[in-house]
Formats: sequence, structure tokens, C-alpha cells
Amino acid sequence: MSDITRREFIRRSLILSAGASLIISCEDNENIPSNPISSSPGMLSSNGNAKKIIVIGAGMSGLVAAYELVRVGHDVTILEARDRIGGRVLTIRSPFSNNHFAEGGAARIKPSHNLTLGYANHFNLNLDPFYATSGDYVNMSNGNREIISNNTYLNTSYGSILRNEYLKIRGGSDLLPHSFYNSSALNNKIYLGVPVTSIHQQNNNVTVQTSNGNQFIADRVLCTVPITVLNKIQFTPPLSPEKQTAMNGGYRYAPSTRVYMQFQNRFWENESLNGWGNSDIPEEIWQPTWDLAGSTGIIMSYLRWTAAQEMDALSEEERINYILSRWENIFPGAASSLQSGMSQSWAEEEWSKGAWASPTGSQDAALANHIGLAEDRIHFAGEHASDDHGWMQGALFSGLRAAAEINEGN
Ligand SMILES: Cc1cc2nc3c(=O)[nH]c(=O)nc-3n(C[C@H](O)[C@H](O)[C@H](O)COP(=O)(O)OP(=O)(O)OC[C@H]3O[C@@H](n4cnc5c(N)ncnc54)[C@H](O)[C@@H]3O)c2cc1C
Repeated sequence: MSDITRREFIRRSLILSAGASLIISCEDNENIPSNPISSSPGMLSSNGNAKKIIVIGAGMSGLVAAYELVRVGHDVTILEARDRIGGRVLTIRSPFSNNHFAEGGAARIKPSHNLTLGYANHFNLNLDPFYATSGDYVNMSNGNREIISNNTYLNTSYGSILRNEYLKIRGGSDLLPHSFYNSSALNNKIYLGVPVTSIHQQNNNVTVQTSNGNQFIADRVLCTVPITVLNKIQFTPPLSPEKQTAMNGGYRYAPSTRVYMQFQNRFWENESLNGWGNSDIPEEIWQPTWDLAGSTGIIMSYLRWTAAQEMDALSEEERINYILSRWENIFPGAASSLQSGMSQSWAEEEWSKGAWASPTGSQDAALANHIGLAEDRIHFAGEHASDDHGWMQGALFSGLRAAAEINEGN
């Protein structure tokens, strides 16, 4: 089988084994398989051909690939630019009191996300409903404040499924990447705070250099760096023209910013509200502390696209004041109950520069099929290299696809 044909074969086998639908995005519809818990962990078979592999990036795609490759005998090292693992899975725990937390990135899980659910199950993580199952929701539109009953809101769809079908990881989404990190497979194999600056491909191996001057030599490299920041790495020989177009601004990412407020008390409960809803900024309003003990509570604003860009133009203090002044109409008493506030902009993150890949139609047609293609000894994964942009499921899927390529290759 030629390399391309073999890759396509592996890709199709993975799609079949994962039961994933092909065209899914953050907002798209999909079918729900009857058994949501997959048997995906342990999908690779050892072929006795152990390789030295460098994985660049300790987000979901890099972690799952490394985990599965180690389990079939490969020698894997992960190099991560940030001083933490998880990438766009970030549970924000500071500065909140009462052990409260809120999600910076990945938060909800669809029942059809068999890989996300499969690995959560593999690591014995518990799942809970994502949306608040008690209290009423609010919708603020054109100055009209509408109260929506809990039952009505949960039985309304968001994307393809009803809101009451969404799940979350109990204790925070970051428990999933931390489970990989703390596993015996990846123990001592992850280096943090070491941005990769260059990748030099020779006939028989690849040399990877980090910003502190260290060099690593490998048989194969898996690059899971978001396309938006891929041009921080110098490739020799250069990557394909399609990847260069994509990494030099030719592959759109969605901007997304979240603003969080911790309140001294849950004053909204006086009105039988649960602190959740929507407004026409547009924003989704979540209260991630709805099922956590403690008198304080966090309400957060989830903004995308223009609303996120407008927020990014403001200072931190202005962001909090702007959202708070709007929320005073949605949740009267917000301003006088505020304890602390903060924001998280993914467009401003040095190692993300965007929330998730959202290519235009023409970018998708011209480049999507090239993004995940291996270039000799360098393989590519990440949500941008999947058909399921903006979900952990896509990142996991692409990581497993790349791990299979590496395991199968010479
Ligand atoms: C606001 C937001 C909301 C989301 N909501 C959901 C949701 O509800 N449910 C869901 O399932 N998913 C959600 N997602 C998507 C999900 O978080 C991502 O699809 C997934 O985490 C991406 O994983 P990844 O491995 O592809 O990339 P990343 O997590 O970005 O990992 C790539 C890693 O590479 C590192 N890196 C970059 N450059 C270098 C370099 N030069 N050298 C070394 N390392 C480098 C980065 O620091 C990063 O750790 C959301 C994402 C965002 C941002």
C-alpha cells in the first residue's frame, strides 16, 4: 500500500472503529450511538518495531497519542511549550475561593463523543449533567427579560441534541489530561516549558530543538501544535505549500473569550433562578458552581466571534465592568454582590492564538485534507487536523489516527 493509501485505510478503519460521524463541528448535528462508552483505549497492537518518538504538545491529541504509543512499546517524549499540560482543556481554579472552579476551554461532552467518554471511563472519572437540573433559566433579548422553566430549557436543543443530554467531567475537565499525565505510561515523559523552535528532517531521523537549546533525535515526530502558532517552528525542509498557507494566516480560527465573576452569595436563587441563560450580545451564561457546595457562586459569560473580539479590545477591568453592567439587568443585584472577576481570551493565548479551527468554505476545500497529512517522518494531529473541530473528541480522534500511522510505519 502506498503511504497515502495506507493512511486513508487507517483513517477509515479508525472512523469505523470509533463510530464517529465524519462531518461534525462545534455547532453541527450528529447521530448518537447507542453505546456511548467506547472500548477505544488500547486500540494499537505491538508490532515489535519500537521507535523513538517526540510528541510536540501536551494537549488532548498529543497525550492520547503518546499514551497509546507507550503502551505498545515505543519510546516517547512529550515537549510542551506551556508550564502546564492540557492545552485548550483548562480548568480555572484560581482566584476562586471555596474550591470553586470554571472551565476556560472544553466543558461539555456529547453522548456521541465515544472517545472522550471512553477515556473518561478508562480513568474512572465520573460524569454529571452539564446544565443545571434545577432552577429557572433567563433569556435577555432586545431588553426583554424572559424566564424559562428548567424543564423547557433542558428539553430544547443546543446543536443537534437536547441540552439535558450534555455531560461534564465531575471535578473539572482538566482531570482528563491530568489522568494521562499521572498514568504510569507517561510518568517522567513530559517536559514542560520547552517550546520547540525547529524541526530538521534527515534521511534516517529527525532533530527537534527547543528554545533552551536542547536537541532531541527521533525516528518520528508527532506535531500537535495549533496551525495558528505552527509558524513559530522552523521546518527543514519546509512543509508542504498547503501547510505553509494554513500556518501563515490562511486557516481561520474562531475567537472566544470568557468572563468570570465570583459572587459573595447566590442572590439569583431568591428569584428561583439558577444563574444560567443567554443574552443577545450574544452570550451563553453559565453558572458552573450550580452543583458545588458553598455560599459563593461563579457566573460566566461565554463569547465567540465578534462579541469575543469586542471584549478582547477592552482591558481586564473594562471587560468585567461591561459584563457586570449588562448582568445587572439580567440578574439584579450582581454589581453589589461581586467578589472577584477575571477573563480568559483564547485569541490572546501565546500557544493557541484562537479557540478552535473554523476554516472558511474555500479554506476547508483547499487545505483541510492536507492539514493532517504526514510529511515523511513528521506526523500531524490536533483538533484542526480532524473533522470534529472544537471538540476534545476531534483532538482524541486525530491523535489516535496519527498514533496508528506511526505505529504502522517503518
Ligand atoms: C473556548 C473553548 C471552548 C471549548 N469547548 C469545548 C467543549 O465544550 N467540549 C469539548 O469537547 N471541547 C471543547 N473545546 C475544544 C477542545 O478544548 C479542543 O478541541 C482540544 O482541547 C484541542 O486539543 P489539541 O491537542 O488539538 O490542541 P491543544 O489543546 O491546543 O494542544 C496543543 C499543545 O501544543 C502546545 N504547543 C504549541 N506550540 C508549541 C511549541 N512550539 N512547542 C511545544 N508545544 C507547543 C500548546 O501549548 C498546547 O498545549 C473548546 C475549546 C475552547 C478554546
